[in-house]
Amino acid sequence: MSDERHIRDRSLWLDTFPGPIRPRLALQGDTDCDVAIVGAGMTGLWTAYALLDADPSLRVRVIEREVAGFGASGRNGGWVSAGIAGVAEEWAKPSGAEAVRQAERVTWRSVDWIGERVAQEQIDCGFVKGGILSVARTAAQEERVRDYIDHHRQWGWGEEDVRALSPAEIAERVAIADARLASFTPHGARINPARLVRGIAEAVERKGGVIYEQTAARFIEPGRVVTEHGTVRAAHVVRATEAFTVQFKQQSRTYLPLYSLMIATEPLPQAVWDELGWNGCETISDAHHLFFYAQRTTDNRIAIGGRGAPYGLGSPVDEAYERHDGVKARLTNTLFSAFPATRGAAITHHWGGALGVPRDWSMSVTHDPATGLAFAGGYSGHGVAATSISGRTLADLILRRDTELTKMPWVNHPVRKWEPEPLRWIASRAIVGIMGSSDRAEDAGAARTARRMAIIRPFLGH
Ligand SMILES: Cc1cc2nc3c(=O)[nH]c(=O)nc-3n(C[C@H](O)[C@H](O)[C@H](O)COP(=O)(O)OP(=O)(O)OC[C@H]3O[C@@H](n4cnc5c(N)ncnc54)[C@H](O)[C@@H]3O)c2cc1C
Repeated sequence: MSDERHIRDRSLWLDTFPGPIRPRLALQGDTDCDVAIVGAGMTGLWTAYALLDADPSLRVRVIEREVAGFGASGRNGGWVSAGIAGVAEEWAKPSGAEAVRQAERVTWRSVDWIGERVAQEQIDCGFVKGGILSVARTAAQEERVRDYIDHHRQWGWGEEDVRALSPAEIAERVAIADARLASFTPHGARINPARLVRGIAEAVERKGGVIYEQTAARFIEPGRVVTEHGTVRAAHVVRATEAFTVQFKQQSRTYLPLYSLMIATEPLPQAVWDELGWNGCETISDAHHLFFYAQRTTDNRIAIGGRGAPYGLGSPVDEAYERHDGVKARLTNTLFSAFPATRGAAITHHWGGALGVPRDWSMSVTHDPATGLAFAGGYSGHGVAATSISGRTLADLILRRDTELTKMPWVNHPVRKWEPEPLRWIASRAIVGIMGSSDRAEDAGAARTARRMAIIRPFLGH
């Protein structure tokens, strides 16, 4: 059970959410419905939304332990990002290159789909499709950005999808110190995630869906969700709990909960923006292995995030990992060094959450028509666009509709589980540790650290 302060403390976005955040009513005893969805994040809510969009007569119930948007969906960097949530080469093996290209197109289109729905449902979440800028600030990063653009060319994408920007072209958009080269794709938008996810919750209710908050699912079985307040019986049961999934029995190895942490500045004065530019609201990252991701917020702050510290053995999801002095200091240094105009700005917020990373770093959307059990997740940090695809796909699968979405490579993609502890924990420490040391070596002038990175390659799904 959460009081309002506990909810708001989860992120900048929840803290500044307008009006009170009052939990909806909890489940009041046993009930029946057509589809029961566990988790009121973007996956669960887009699924409810798409089902009710397709068939308003359906009885859809969402069961949420805290409140809508309490999880990663209310805490993330607000990148509606263009990248597919998975490793293209892995999917190409069973599905072929054209299927992966189509998956990429579907992901790009989902950015516009979200924009259309936000407009239609009048969700005031600051959606701006300003594209994505990935900036190289060292020689090693420059090489990586060139590789990234080449990789897209090899997959058949043209200048209109991904292109290189020179330092002068970057400076026309944003003043970033030491920028040597950037890749730019127009297929990306910025949002305020808490406003989006809570806006979808309201849209679900307008369509007739019911959301029970402060109701923890104890276990999920074919035909029912057993909660602390009663049992919800349903023909279809959807698990939409991403990183939290590891807390369910039998699911502890489904994902590696990889913590990502963020900070935000105070609202910055106009003089800083005059120096910075950033009027297109592009989302911006660098090309470190432990890259930063940043956005200009609707209230003129900079919110910037990066990888957190590894979790502790025995308790992989815990609020204790959501803040970390060392990561906060690293992000603050990165902010001041990449955007010198911000030096001296107050850091008002620090927060974080877990990404759900499957062993092959590739998302899955699964429905078993025999049992009615479904789930989606494993977006490895690319969930904002992907959840909208998952939600629409799960609706199609549940309604037995054969669509473009139900043919995507992630549909019924088996989740490759992680090794038992302590191996998964060792992997998480190695990923963060070796990426961090490679970054430090590259920042000190070393060439690309391919050899060092090769050690963790087996843990990265490619
Ligand atoms: C700091 C951070 C930054 C990120 N940045 C980006 C980004 O910029 N762009 C991007 O695309 N992705 C980003 N991601 C990833 C993205 O946020 C997630 O992939 C996505 O939000 C997952 O949505 P979801 O609905 O599947 O899970 P969640 O949003 O985590 O929702 C799961 C819900 O299930 C509930 N729940 C858990 N257990 C139970 C239970 N037993 N009973 C009932 N309810 C339960 C939780 O309370 C939660 O509300 C980021 C993630 C983090 C943590």
